[in-house]
Amino acid sequence: MQAHSSFDIIIIGGGIVGLSSAWQLQQAFPEKRILLLEKEPGYAQHQTGHNSGVIHAGVYYQPGSLKARFCKEGAAATLDFCRHHHLPVEQCGKLLVATHPLELERMNKLQQRCEDNGIEVEKLSSEQLLQREPNIKGLGALFVAATGIADYGAVSRQMAANFVSLGGRIELQSEVQHLRESASNIEIRLRNGCRYHTGFLISCGGLMADRLTRLLNIDTDFRIVPFRGEYFRLPERLNNVVRHLIYPIPDPDLPFLGVHLTRMIDGSVTIGPNAVLGWKREGYGQANFNLRDTAAMLTFPGFWKVGVKHWRSGINEWKNSWHRYGYLQLARKYCPQLTLADLQPYPTGIRAQAVLSDGTLVHDFLFHESPRSLHVCNAPSPAATSAIPIGRHIVERVTGKLIG
Ligand SMILES: Cc1cc2nc3c(=O)[nH]c(=O)nc-3n(C[C@H](O)[C@H](O)[C@H](O)COP(=O)(O)OP(=O)(O)OC[C@H]3O[C@@H](n4cnc5c(N)ncnc54)[C@H](O)[C@@H]3O)c2cc1C
Repeated sequence: MQAHSSFDIIIIGGGIVGLSSAWQLQQAFPEKRILLLEKEPGYAQHQTGHNSGVIHAGVYYQPGSLKARFCKEGAAATLDFCRHHHLPVEQCGKLLVATHPLELERMNKLQQRCEDNGIEVEKLSSEQLLQREPNIKGLGALFVAATGIADYGAVSRQMAANFVSLGGRIELQSEVQHLRESASNIEIRLRNGCRYHTGFLISCGGLMADRLTRLLNIDTDFRIVPFRGEYFRLPERLNNVVRHLIYPIPDPDLPFLGVHLTRMIDGSVTIGPNAVLGWKREGYGQANFNLRDTAAMLTFPGFWKVGVKHWRSGINEWKNSWHRYGYLQLARKYCPQLTLADLQPYPTGIRAQAVLSDGTLVHDFLFHESPRSLHVCNAPSPAATSAIPIGRHIVERVTGKLIG
């Protein structure tokens, strides 16, 4: 027999953005019946559970953008949340290391950007860098003390527990397959045959964000393109090779930060992630391929326009993905002691990157809506850091809709 029920608000997606929104919505509207639907058997199985675990301070983002605002607020909120709930967290600071004269120029611009975004930053000479990090070499560096590390899987599980303790309901293994909006509600049908009705729908589907908007025929101009982020773990004897997080100076044209050395919250150190085009949105193996995902990319004009603009870096990323020596060189630029034998396997993550049909890589967080729904369409890094303010923003937008 098919279950069938009505809710005031239904949220799709049990990643950190969906869970943060669910928890804060239930807090804001204790009397409302709220349900969260997640297709996997657990929380945080995709981007949220496969990332670097960094609490970003907000260094890189365009002043005035949602990313700049939410990241800075989110860094403080994530630290508070972890401390309040006794979850592992550490404010270890990060060094952005320039290894080339062009990077020194970019580093100076980044310093200015930090100042524009109100982020405290300290400029270091190569000697000062060596004093702080004896194993790291560079022409200069920026030190950002506010950066930290957390376990976003644990944060998500805590948000889920908070939501449920306030009266919210979560259904796992519940994949949304059909949506139909009418003047009075939205009908939701799941792959397992269950049917629900809701007064308002919020979709936080990560790698599936575009498909969920299309189920409601919302007129949008973006497609999700998956970018694999492949990591390695350093051997245990190198757990103390760095004291801080070590990042390269990024290319300002690309939305990714470059291969970095990350101290993880469990004490290990990872190296990565790169950014290689993926042929399967939720396929983590290196050779994974999915016809539907690939066809969706190849038939989207924006994909080809990105390709024309970034083909050189795309080929380099692909080469370094298959040839570990090339990958290693990216980290050896600032940490010369690393060797091929130090690259031990570590799970890959896949980023959901929204691309517009004119080939623009969407840098900022992006939302679309219909009369009875709100969709988080682009929530790449630093959306884990920013999940609490994103949830707060969603509460504000939904409040306007529910009252208005
Ligand atoms: C390699 C990598 C490194 C990163 N590093 C960092 C970092 O250090 N710091 C940081 O702040 N951010 C980082 N990020 C970004 C961050 O992880 C993401 O921005 C964030 O996790 C997005 O959360 P989400 O809830 O939107 O998406 P997700 O975690 O992907 O969750 C979406 C959920 O929706 C579910 N879903 C999709 N379709 C359906 C459907 N039809 N029915 C039901 N459920 C559905 C999925 O199963 C999934 O659980 C990184 C990301 C990657 C990939």
